[in-house]
Amino acid sequence: MAENVTIALAGNPNSGKTTMFNALTGSRQRVGNYPGVTVERKEGTVILNGLHADVVDLPGCYSLTAYSMEELVARQVLVEERPDVVVHVMDATVLERSLYLGVQLLEMGVPVVLALNMMDETKKRGLRINAGKLSKLLGVPVVETVGRTGQGKKELLQAAIDHANQRKRQWLPLELSYGPDVDHALLDMTTRINAAGLFTDRQPARWTAIKYIEGDEQVVAEGRKAAPEVSKELEAMVAKLSDHCQKTLNAYPDAIIADYRYGFISALLKQGVLERDSLRERIDITDKVDRVLTHRVFGPLIMLAVLYGMFKITFTLGEYPMGWLEIAFGWLSDTVGNALAEGPLRSMLVSGVIDGVGGVMGFVPLILIMFLMVSALEDLGYMARMAYMLDRVFRIFGLHGCSVMPFVISGGIAGGCAVPGIMATRTLKSPKEKLATLLTAPFMTCGAKIPVFVLLVAAFFPENAAITMFAITMFAWVMALLVSWALRSTLLRGESTPFVMELPPYRLPTLRGVLTHSFERTWAYIRKAGTVILAISILLWAAMTYPELPAERTAGFETMREQAVAETQTMADAEAALEERLAEIDNREAQAALRHSLAGRVGGALEPVSKLAGFDWRTNIALVGGVAAKEVIVSTLGTAYSLGEVEAEEAEPLSERLATDPQWSAITAISLIVFVLLYAPCFVTVVAMAKESSWRWATFSTIFNTALAFAMATAIYQFGRLLS
Ligand code: GDP
Ligand code: MG
Repeated sequence: MAENVTIALAGNPNSGKTTMFNALTGSRQRVGNYPGVTVERKEGTVILNGLHADVVDLPGCYSLTAYSMEELVARQVLVEERPDVVVHVMDATVLERSLYLGVQLLEMGVPVVLALNMMDETKKRGLRINAGKLSKLLGVPVVETVGRTGQGKKELLQAAIDHANQRKRQWLPLELSYGPDVDHALLDMTTRINAAGLFTDRQPARWTAIKYIEGDEQVVAEGRKAAPEVSKELEAMVAKLSDHCQKTLNAYPDAIIADYRYGFISALLKQGVLERDSLRERIDITDKVDRVLTHRVFGPLIMLAVLYGMFKITFTLGEYPMGWLEIAFGWLSDTVGNALAEGPLRSMLVSGVIDGVGGVMGFVPLILIMFLMVSALEDLGYMARMAYMLDRVFRIFGLHGCSVMPFVISGGIAGGCAVPGIMATRTLKSPKEKLATLLTAPFMTCGAKIPVFVLLVAAFFPENAAITMFAITMFAWVMALLVSWALRSTLLRGESTPFVMELPPYRLPTLRGVLTHSFERTWAYIRKAGTVILAISILLWAAMTYPELPAERTAGFETMREQAVAETQTMADAEAALEERLAEIDNREAQAALRHSLAGRVGGALEPVSKLAGFDWRTNIALVGGVAAKEVIVSTLGTAYSLGEVEAEEAEPLSERLATDPQWSAITAISLIVFVLLYAPCFVTVVAMAKESSWRWATFSTIFNTALAFAMATAIYQFGRLLS
């Protein structure tokens, strides 16, 4: 080839021209201005696998009539520079609108190659475009591309060069019919233009006539200059046509031309070029399904059933892997315990690191299973319906439809976690609504609080366990809504933002999508919680271990042990009795050590105040520990009640112990349940809150929630005592 092929890239603004231009030319670009105007001109050279071409990126435009500077410049390049081929870059997601320019290029007659760009988006939206059919119907090459990835650019270039070589700069205008009136006038005008030879050397006569009818100022001005007489005649013909059209069709001729162009495109697309059927169908099905799923009465009932089912499955399925993890951590704990000599290092590794982190890791299977279902419901489009239904209720309390998910994730039904719940508040655009959500979501019954409630319910309300758990859940919701209402009427006063939610069509979730979403979330839980919990566990272990009992007190317990050995020797069932007594002494020593430790002292110091709500020093330690992680409450209570290690899952003995302890009563239990439900969020949650809002609000939440919890617990305890 002697000369490089010249290619002009045309297209609507934002169709991806510049992206395609860059993908083709790389760094071989020159940027300048078109003479006399401020429109930028970009040119470059393509060298791709042995193919060479000069490319110019035209200004984005919707038509080729001189309505704007961009359109004028784009047209001038085509008419005056006569590129060998025009590549029309189309946003294929709006094929109909894009083709409006495409049809005008074809009407002009320039050699055109259509690039169906943004094919990635098209597929995502469920549109199916038959490129082969389009190419056949229009008689021009059509290439599918993705400008962002450069996909299809080589095929596009090849098609453009082939087409240029084949057409050899020949313009072959597409002649559309614009209806009898316009067609008739066009015929007369074209004859006149051809006879006068007006611009026939550079553009088709029919095209010039169309521009006259469209009232293109530039073409008319040039026509007047080149041939005033002819132009006058043409203008008179247009005036007559315009008059006629207004009288008979109540429309201007240029509008009629546009209508016929769109009609042509629409007919084109209907011949199997564009298929939206799958989407249509899905929308129809969605409407039918939604009539049931968002029904005023059945909707909420179905929602409760779905949520209940989700948590039921989570807990039922989660039991097995949680058991395996427990065994694994137990084994690890034993192995490390046996491998190391007794001392602070062993105690720290076993009690602090392995048991602490193990407690958190134990919840990973639950979280993973729950996220799998949440992701599936989300991808399906059901979560959007839940938000839509609850929005009506939430609005009353100053919350938003987008507050629903954070509540549910935080444990709105049972067993979530406030950390991902807090992160989920990101969907809220209004800062005040986001804060109100973020501050109240931690009231929900998260997975770590559940063992505490199960323990207390089993001890004091064994007959009504299920209904009590349900009542606790409902209470959490009521408190969250009331507090948010209080916040939104005081500190966070402000308008509520509208919740306009376009309910997306239902879509079957893909396995890959669901897996990816839930693994991402689970990993975030492991990473974020794991690191912080590890540190907290070690700190807590230290607080419950140091300062150690002074030597003389340890010696005292030693004496008691010797005494026990001496006394039991004379008894009948010597071995069993001794074992029992030694265990009792071990427990008493452990309790004395705990009382002596920093944590024990803090618990004791708080007792005068906590007594008001019915909590003694041992409960206080558990509650202070619970700030690190709520699971800690159960195991700390176990230690404090000198039963040694109490696993959250095997809390029976502790609950029996609490039930028979004279210090405890049903009132104490209710008071503690309410306190645990409402008081300061765990540390990881506070960190998450600070990240999502600020440390000021995180601190506020810690103090406010604890004060509220204490006030409620005290009221319950004092009132309960009056009654009993
Ligand atoms: P221009 O106005 O026609 O020059 O369009 P640009 O090249 O500036 O592109 C507009 C936007 O569309 C940019 O954000 C591009 O990243 C994006 N874009 C371009 N091509 C594609 C494509 O094939 N797929 C998708 N998803 N985005 C694209
Ligand atoms: Mg551009």
